[in-house]
Amino acid sequence: TKKTVVITGASSGLGLAAARELAKSGEWRVIMACRDFIKAETIAKENDFPKDSYLVLHLDLAANSSVRQFVSSFRALNIPLDALVCNAAVYFPNAHKEGAFFPGLFPGGGPRWSADGHELSFATNYLGHFLLCNLLLEDLKKSSVKPARCIILGTVTASINDKEVGGMIPPVADIGRLEGMEEGMKAPVTMIDNGRFNGAKAYKDSKVCDVMLMRELHKRYHASSGVCFSSLYPGCIADTALFREHYPVFRFLFPILQKGVTNAYVSEEEAGKRLAKVVADDNYAQSGVYFSWGGESGTGGAGGADAIENVDASADRFLQYGSFRTLKESEI
Ligand code: NDP
Repeated sequence: TKKTVVITGASSGLGLAAARELAKSGEWRVIMACRDFIKAETIAKENDFPKDSYLVLHLDLAANSSVRQFVSSFRALNIPLDALVCNAAVYFPNAHKEGAFFPGLFPGGGPRWSADGHELSFATNYLGHFLLCNLLLEDLKKSSVKPARCIILGTVTASINDKEVGGMIPPVADIGRLEGMEEGMKAPVTMIDNGRFNGAKAYKDSKVCDVMLMRELHKRYHASSGVCFSSLYPGCIADTALFREHYPVFRFLFPILQKGVTNAYVSEEEAGKRLAKVVADDNYAQSGVYFSWGGESGTGGAGGADAIENVDASADRFLQYGSFRTLKESEI
């Protein structure tokens, strides 16, 4: 019998590439947890997913009721859950630059809101996954596959956050002392540190929270449940739809820069293989760990071991810039 993995945002980019890899392995049944049912179903067919290897279930992470609905739809299938991948994300890099250059052409648009009234990147990237992990932990605990895994996507822009990294583009992630959360994270509050709205920073902050969530789940539940919680940065997949709202000139130049200058570029296909390994490969059955790759050839990505960052070292790095001060203190 096949093992079952839920992947959020499996209708494009990294999630799709990993879903394809796992569905075609013959060993996995992929639950594609997607906000656009028809898009997901169509793309699975276009990619020749074997018929019995996938199922699309509707999930809109920007609505808590949809997350709950997804969990009950999944449970109604009566199949075990062996792995959960929190992959979906949105990025609104220009949302805070209303009318900055050519009004109308690059409209910015200001903050957007989830069904429950939270800033949309915070809600989608973090809060929806927070709820999903909390609910599905019970199901993961019951998996007969040892260890069951819960994987939450991080990013280098959240884990490495200062000038030491050449070309790291500001703003830096900084969730302050969670002042925005204290205020309830609803309009007019947009940012976790209750600062001025900045779309690019909101994305980075949400990914910091994702890594914190992984570490907190590990701390609380790994020993008692055996479930492995991990995060990863698969390399810079510079041409996914994640950048769909960026300036056209940025979208043109960014992959060229990442390929030719920083060497951080990785194709969707290779990144998908990396994520699939974290789901399925024994070498990656570790908990509390943040896996990190370089560009297309990876830094030890193929073998595994070199790609694994020592978690204490990463934690130290997180702590360096303040945001993770709150990791130990906050009850997430
Ligand atoms: P894509 O935009 O290609 O994929 C994001 C997916 O999330 C899409 O399938 C999208 O659905 C889905 N999604 C968006 N909003 C919601 C929602 N409300 N409910 C359910 N699903 C939703 O981006 P990537 O593949 O690049 O990103 C995947 C992950 O990888 C993210 O977590 C990102 O932070 C991370 N990452 C990406 C990097 C990169 O360089 N691209 C680098 C490091 C990390 P739809 O198809 O309907 O639009």
